[in-house]
Amino acid sequence: VREVGDPVDETELAIEGALRPGSLAEFVGQQKVRGQLQLLLDAARIQQRPADHILLSGPPGLGKTTLAMIVAHESNRPLRLSSGPAIQHAGDLAALLSSLTPGEVLFIDEVHRMARSAEEMLYLAMEDFRIDIMVGKGAGATSIPLDLAPFTLVGATTRSGMLPNPLRDRFGFTAHLEYYEPEELERVIERSAAMLGVAVPPGPRAEIARRSRGTPRIANRLLRRVRDYSIVHGNGRAADAAIVDAALDLYDVDAIGLDRLDRAVLDALVRRFRGGPVGLGTLSVAVGEESDTIESVVEPYLVRIGFIGRTPRGRIAMPEAYAHLGVASPESVLG
Ligand code: ADP
Repeated sequence: VREVGDPVDETELAIEGALRPGSLAEFVGQQKVRGQLQLLLDAARIQQRPADHILLSGPPGLGKTTLAMIVAHESNRPLRLSSGPAIQHAGDLAALLSSLTPGEVLFIDEVHRMARSAEEMLYLAMEDFRIDIMVGKGAGATSIPLDLAPFTLVGATTRSGMLPNPLRDRFGFTAHLEYYEPEELERVIERSAAMLGVAVPPGPRAEIARRSRGTPRIANRLLRRVRDYSIVHGNGRAADAAIVDAALDLYDVDAIGLDRLDRAVLDALVRRFRGGPVGLGTLSVAVGEESDTIESVVEPYLVRIGFIGRTPRGRIAMPEAYAHLGVASPESVLG
């Protein structure tokens, strides 16, 4: 099962890239974080040094990669992109770090998925711009210190709880990105619609925003499906309420923006496990999806809208979830 917000193929990725805001001023919402980042970048610029390391956490599609690109762009420095899963040995990280040019911005997506040995190397690199490279094996092994060019690390994670404290502590600034308000998503859609050359009036625009799970990536994705629908069934330059509804229904996005996986999780929780509590692992098996996806993609939004509760004994369904599925909740039966 794919999340609606996931990049699907190269073309989609390219369009997603084209819709990325290029500066903090163009970046919609997250006002607090934007102000904090601005100060950090301004101070670094005045002192002509690389900015402090930055940790961005939050669910996928909220703008972490975009912010990393903006950090590089606004500080006029090159950007290197990597990710935790690509760094499976300390050697991978050593090669990456030693090839950075002075002041470069290094973005590591999913930084919580880096190899343990690399994590430890990163501590020293972040703090002292230095690494120790081990040569040889056994009794003859020695470590050779290597100085690095100063850099700014921007780490992104969907699971900040999985980051070891020593790593977390070495970021000078940590920001947690929150889901966007519908009004903010409307602005994202307005901007993207102009870039895509499709006119979407305020009403239908608000409808797309309401059904975007608080996530700009999903808002952009849905807008592109709406445009597709208009190309095939309309004039390709405008989308009205009927086109928006038809396109979103076609892609199984329900009235409040839940997709098929969201509904599968709710359905399992409410019907199969009678509202819980049920462990994450059991729930994942029931819907046939990796528990990491459930925990970092599905659950945060369902918790945020009050459909799911987390208890020490597992996940439970809240009355709102029953209402959405049209199932009588135990409380309403008892009451
Ligand atoms: P993440 O790295 O958190 O998964 P991205 O930075 O890749 O998310 O953002 C996904 C898409 O959403 C991009 O196309 C980007 O243009 C758009 N986007 C994200 N945040 C914003 C924002 N605040 N304003 C406008 N567009 C945004």
